Amino acid sequence: MRFSRYRDEIWSHLHVHSLYSATDALSSVPTLVARAKANGQPALGLTDHGNMSGAVTLYQECMKAGLLPFPGSEMYLVRDRADKKAKRHHLGVLATSGQGYRNLVALSSLSHRNFYHKPLLDLSDLAEASEAGRLRGLVALSGCYSGLPIQDLLNYGPEQAKTTLACYAGWFDQCYVELMDHGMVWDDGSTDADLCLALAQLADELGLPVLVTADSHYAFAEQRVLHESLKRLVSYGSGDDDGVFRGSGYDLSQTSVVKRRHTAKNWISGLAGQADLQARWDLSIPELDKYHYNIPVIIPDPMRELRKRVGTDEVVAEELDVIERTGMASYLCWSPRSPITCASAASSSRPAARPPAACAATGWGSPRWTRSSGSCATNGSSPPTGPSRRTSTWMWSTPVAARCWTGFGSASRCTRSAPTPRCR
Ligand SMILES: [Zn+2]
Ligand SMILES: [Zn+2]
Repeated sequence: MRFSRYRDEIWSHLHVHSLYSATDALSSVPTLVARAKANGQPALGLTDHGNMSGAVTLYQECMKAGLLPFPGSEMYLVRDRADKKAKRHHLGVLATSGQGYRNLVALSSLSHRNFYHKPLLDLSDLAEASEAGRLRGLVALSGCYSGLPIQDLLNYGPEQAKTTLACYAGWFDQCYVELMDHGMVWDDGSTDADLCLALAQLADELGLPVLVTADSHYAFAEQRVLHESLKRLVSYGSGDDDGVFRGSGYDLSQTSVVKRRHTAKNWISGLAGQADLQARWDLSIPELDKYHYNIPVIIPDPMRELRKRVGTDEVVAEELDVIERTGMASYLCWSPRSPITCASAASSSRPAARPPAACAATGWGSPRWTRSSGSCATNGSSPPTGPSRRTSTWMWSTPVAARCWTGFGSASRCTRSAPTPRCR
C-alpha cells in the first residue's frame, strides 16, 4: 500500500449545509464552526442550496476560531435554461480567494436573476463567466448524487461524465471530484460505494484531484431524528415519499468516522485533494472583518418612538390617518439607522410647496430641492413644480441627509434616508 504524506488532521468538511439551506438543514453557522473546531478540523466549506447567506458569518467565525473558511454554494444547474423542463442538478462552488469571493457573489446574483423555481445557472452561463474571467478564485465540486457528473455517468456513461468534469475543470480554477459515501443504495441499483470507485477512476483518467466529502445537513449525529422530523414536516409525504434521508453520516462527523466509510486508496487520494485545495486558500476580505447586518429591530413601544421622531400626538395622528386612507402602509419603512419615511396629505394636483409637517418638524438643517428624475442635475431652493407628479422624484437634501419627495395619488411622501443610488 502507498502511504499518504498527508495526515488525517488536514481533512475537513467542505460540503456543508447550514440552516440557510431552508427546510433541508438544521444548524447555524457558528454551531458548525464550533463543531469543526472541536473535531480538530482545520477548515470548513459552506455550500448552502442556491444561496450564500451564511458566507459572512462563516468568514468571521472561522477567522475567530483559526479555521480556513471556504465560502461557497451548492448551486442549481441545468444544461440549458431555455428548456423549461430541464432537470436541475447540483454544482458545488467554493471561493479560495478574495477575488473568488467577489466572483461567487456575482455568480450567485446571476443565478437569482435567472430564477425559475430556483436560482438557476446553465452550462452557457458558466462558459461565459469563465471566458470573462469571472470564475477566477473559484473551484468546482463535482457534487452529490444530484450532480451532473454522476447523472451523466448513470444515464449516458463514463465518456459523458468525463466531458462534464473536463468542462468544470476548464472553466473553474480546478474541479475536485467528490467521493461521498452515505451507504446508500439508490433506486437505479447503484450504491455510493460503486459510485465512489467509478468517480475515482474518472478522476484518475482526467488527472483531477478528488475530495472525500459528506453531505452534512446538521452538526451532531444525535440531531438525525430532528432532521427527519423537519423533512417529514415539509414534504407532506409518508413512507418512501417522506423526504427523510436514507443512509447515514449527514452530520458534521469526526474525521475518523468519515474515513471509515472509504477505501484506503480513496481516503489517501482525498487527503491529497484536501491539501491541494487548502494550499489554494488566500482569502482575506478586510471589508468583512467588522461587517454586520443592519437588521431591523422590533420597537417595543412604537407610538412612543413615533412621537419622539415625528413630533406631537396630533402630528402622529394626522400622519397615520393619511397613511391609512391612502393605503401607503406598505411604503412605510422605519428603522433606527435609516429614519425616516413619512406620509402627508397633499391634496393639490401639484407637489406641495413645503415638505409635509412631519418632515419639517424633524428640523434637519437647510434643505434644498433636488430634482432626480433621471439626471439629478437641477438644484434649487424652490420646491418642485412642473412635470407630472407620477414621474418626478425630488430629493430634499440637507447637509447630512436627503429626503425624497415624490408626489403620487392624493398623498405625498417624504423620506429621509441614504440617497437613492441613481442620485449619487
Ligand atoms: Zn446535492
Ligand atoms: Zn449538498
